[in-house]
Amino acid sequence: MAAVNVKELIRKLVAMQKIDEELFAFRREIRQKPEELAKLKMQFDNKKALLHKLQARAQELELARKAKELDLKSKEQDIIKADTSLMALKSNKEYQARLFEIENMKIDKGVFEEDILKLMDESERVGKQIEAEKAVVDGEEKKYLAEKEKVDAEVAKLTEESSGLEARRREVMVAIDKEPLALYERIVENRDGVAIAPIVNNACGGCFMHLPDQVINKIKMYDGLVRCEICSRLQYLAEDL
Ligand SMILES: [Zn+2]
Repeated sequence: MAAVNVKELIRKLVAMQKIDEELFAFRREIRQKPEELAKLKMQFDNKKALLHKLQARAQELELARKAKELDLKSKEQDIIKADTSLMALKSNKEYQARLFEIENMKIDKGVFEEDILKLMDESERVGKQIEAEKAVVDGEEKKYLAEKEKVDAEVAKLTEESSGLEARRREVMVAIDKEPLALYERIVENRDGVAIAPIVNNACGGCFMHLPDQVINKIKMYDGLVRCEICSRLQYLAEDL
């Protein structure tokens, strides 16, 4: 390839690179925005999970209380039955024994009543926690939805702007030969958006490795594209263009 053509090719690739720098920056932003949002969503989900745990606990407590109330009811019926049976008893011994049974049943009844009160206390405590947590979840949800709306709008704007760049990129692209274009595209994708880098202070502008004089001399000959041996990016001398 004639030197003049190589220089012309490098100029086109550098023009393409300028567009790609912006384009990759857009892409990074478009990628990062939803990641920030995902963090907020996770916070919101964690708060929701805590609320659900409390709600499950409240349900457990209610079931436990209902079971205790049934126990209490049946104990009360047992006591009434035993009380009624007292009159039919013939001997004093039987009477005393039944009285003793009734006393024990009353003690059990007292324990059930105490348990029910404890369960009610805990239900009340959990109920208050649920109310507080609901307010937190509502707040988090509003925060998340507001942020999501903002991020969605920003991403839409970035996408629109980047599609403008894509159009400009296509215009530059059609003027580049197939082979160097394919090479450029491969490097730009694999090297985070930088396919062609200027030489700065005898170092590759892509990976900053020092370049031997022979590489720089090779570039100056302009008989083909020269790549960095370390990062594979194409190299150019800005002052030559
Ligand atoms: Zn390099």
